[in-house]
Parts: sequence; structure tokens; C-alpha cells
Amino acid sequence: MQRPNSHAIFTRAKEIMPGGVNSPARAFGAVGGEPVVMDRASGAYLFDVDGNQYIDYIGSWGPMILGHQHPAVVVAVRAAVEKAFSFGAPSPGENELCELIIELVPSIEMVRLVSSGTEATMSAIRLARGYTGRDRIIKFAGNYHGHVDSLLVAAGSSAATLGVPNSPGVTAGTTQDTIICRYNDPANLEEIFAEHGSTIAGVIFEPIVGNMGTVIPTAEFLQTMRELTWKHGALMICDEVMTGFRVAVGGAQQLLDFTPDLTTLGKIVGGGMPIGAYGGRKEVMQHVLPAGKVFQAGTLSGNPLATAAGIATLKQLRDQPPYEKLEQLGAQLGDGLLAAAQAAKIPASLTRVGSMLTLFFNPMQPTDWDTASQSDTTRFARYFWGLLNRGVYMPCSQYEALFISAAHSPADIQATIAAAQEVLAGFGE
Ligand code: PLP
Repeated sequence: MQRPNSHAIFTRAKEIMPGGVNSPARAFGAVGGEPVVMDRASGAYLFDVDGNQYIDYIGSWGPMILGHQHPAVVVAVRAAVEKAFSFGAPSPGENELCELIIELVPSIEMVRLVSSGTEATMSAIRLARGYTGRDRIIKFAGNYHGHVDSLLVAAGSSAATLGVPNSPGVTAGTTQDTIICRYNDPANLEEIFAEHGSTIAGVIFEPIVGNMGTVIPTAEFLQTMRELTWKHGALMICDEVMTGFRVAVGGAQQLLDFTPDLTTLGKIVGGGMPIGAYGGRKEVMQHVLPAGKVFQAGTLSGNPLATAAGIATLKQLRDQPPYEKLEQLGAQLGDGLLAAAQAAKIPASLTRVGSMLTLFFNPMQPTDWDTASQSDTTRFARYFWGLLNRGVYMPCSQYEALFISAAHSPADIQATIAAAQEVLAGFGE
């Protein structure tokens, strides 16, 4: 596959943007080589600036659950463009999107819109601290909550991939109130609460982890977290930026049946436009300015184009739920990829929840960062490039989940499995 235009554009990009990108996860840092520069997208496919076509398993890192350019979303955004790009004043679309979020996400009674997942988690932990009057936050090793300074400790996703769990520029003072706990380890959580319980404002967690590859929580882990937070007066902050509207219309909390105090959303809630949100019990949310005293603001928060895309996406997910189809496609892909690895005698495991999955080059199914980080990332890089050059665009790190959209067909999945079989069979040579 030739990519001369991609090469020329990326060569220039490196001169004018750090690493040539505007977000490190796109830079192919974990797999080496140059990223592909994209031109357009449609349904389940991406098209690069050289005219090459790829089956897309990133979906813009999660938002595009309906596939690219879904007609209902395009129509809604076009109509919004005709009216205004931004008001900086209340608009009906904000009500409509917030009503939908409250309707669909079981634990949310009141919600605030922001412009990214990072803003959502940053605001949620500030609220937890303001509400409880306490300083400490527990986070889990390998969970990523955006680039919030105090949460950029033992973080997954590109922070893990690039080996900078503690970024330069994040001061010791900023992270001193962040306590790191092992994921899926109720005993570790109990120890931390036993020692620091009265100073803990909240526990923030990915309810199904995507940012160390897909890792599934045990029921006992979630139950212990719920009980300990209740017992000690701390808030359970469920980061559903990735899982919200993805693993079920009501997110992981609906699928796994638990009730957090606060939930953060991003990605799908904006249908591909920049939106994040945080919400929860009204009594807690009433502490946010101007109803309460916890400061949080945004020039473009509730932007009318973004809310239009979000409303159209959530309505589609509610009225024509794709989750059964996504489960079938997910099972087809997961089973096919694992079988391809097994046939090639390559040690691997597969973790999947619906349309979110990871093939780990690790014979053990990871349950936390310690086990996930034992995966063979060199093998992953070879697998990634083999697939890319066969027109399959996977996340460029072992420590990411891939996403299937409602626009994918069984034939797309079959073509992907066939490509994986070819790539993995070549590993023995
Ligand atoms: N939380 C989780 C679970 C995420 O996966 C991400 C991004 O990948 C974020 C927060 C940050 O969201 P954003 O990149 O929109 O700031």
C-alpha cells in the first residue's frame, strides 16, 4: 500500500505540531512508523489522502458507534449550522441533550455539559472534593481519565504506551492527593480506605477498562467499591467516557448493574463533536456553580452544533438500538481473531464486552495493569502493521480497545479475520 501524500503531509506536520499530531495516541508511537493521514470517512470505512480504504476499528477512539457520516447526524448538524455556530447563551438543544442523558443513564438526575472527557473528569473530581470537603482521590493503575494533572499518575492509554505515567510538568504537589490502587483488587481498596477513609473525597474508575486494553471488573470489586465509598462518605465516580452508550445504552452501570454517585461522559455523547458531560444525584450536582459554589465553566460548553450531533446520536441509539447487532459482530470478530492466533500457535487471549475488545499478545487474560503490561508489544506492532497494510485500521497500541460500529457488516468482520489469519500465520516464518 503506497502512501506518498500521507508521507508528505506528515513530514510537514512534524515541523509545525509536536510529533506531527494534536494528540499523542494518533502518532503510532507504540508501533513505530508514520501515521496515516486521513481524508474522509463513511460508514465503517476510512479513506486516506492517497485514496486507500481501511475498515475502521477506532471510530475516532470511540465516538462513532453509528459509523461515520450517519445520515441522521449529518442532517441534524447541517440544520444546526444554518442557525448558529455558538451562542454563549442558553439554547434548547442543551435541554434536549441533557434530558436524553438523564433518561438513558440510570444514575444521572442532573448533568453539566463540557467540551471533552478530560474536562468531565477534572470537573467531577473537583465537585467530589467540593462536596465532601476532602482532598484525596483514589484512582486505579492503568485507568486513564484524560490529561487532568492530578490523574496523570499510573495512567493507561497513551500515557502507558509512551511510558510517561508521570508526565514532566505534573508536580508532586498536584498528585500528592491521588492514591493509586490496583484494579480488580478489593483487598487493596479496603487497605486504602482503612488507612485514609476519612480524607477520601472519591474513587474514580473505568467501569470496564479500555485504556490498558479491555479489562473487565469483577462483581466483587465493584460491590466492594460501592460499599466502601458509602461507608466512608466518599463518592463513587464512574468514568464512562468510553463505555457510556457503548456497552449498553445506559453504559456499564446499566450492564453491570451498579449505581455510582457521579458519572463522566464523553465520546459518543457528542456523536463525533467535542462534548463531555458529568452528572449524578441532584443533591450533589446542585453544588456546581451557579447553583452551588464549585467553580466550573466553558465558553463553548453546550455548543449548538455539538449538541445537535449528540442528540441525533443518542436518539438513534435509543430508538433503534444497535446493541444486539454489535454483540453479534463483536462475538464474530473476537472469536475469529482469537482462533487466528491459536491456529498460528501464538500465545494470546481475548477480552470483550459487546463491541469493545482487545486481542492481547498475552496468554493470560489481563485483570489489572500488572498482568496487562506483560503483553508482547513487539508482536502487537507487527500485527498492527500487517493489518494496516491489508486495509484494516486497528488502534495503534496493545493498550487500547478496538471499537466496532453499527455500520460494520459481517462481511467487513470476515475480511478482517481473513487479514488477521494471514498476518498471524506469517509470524512463524
Ligand atoms: N476518560 C476515559 C475513560 C477515556 O478513555 C478518555 C479518553 O480516551 C478520557 C477520559 C478523556 O477524554 P478526552 O480525550 O475527550 O479528553
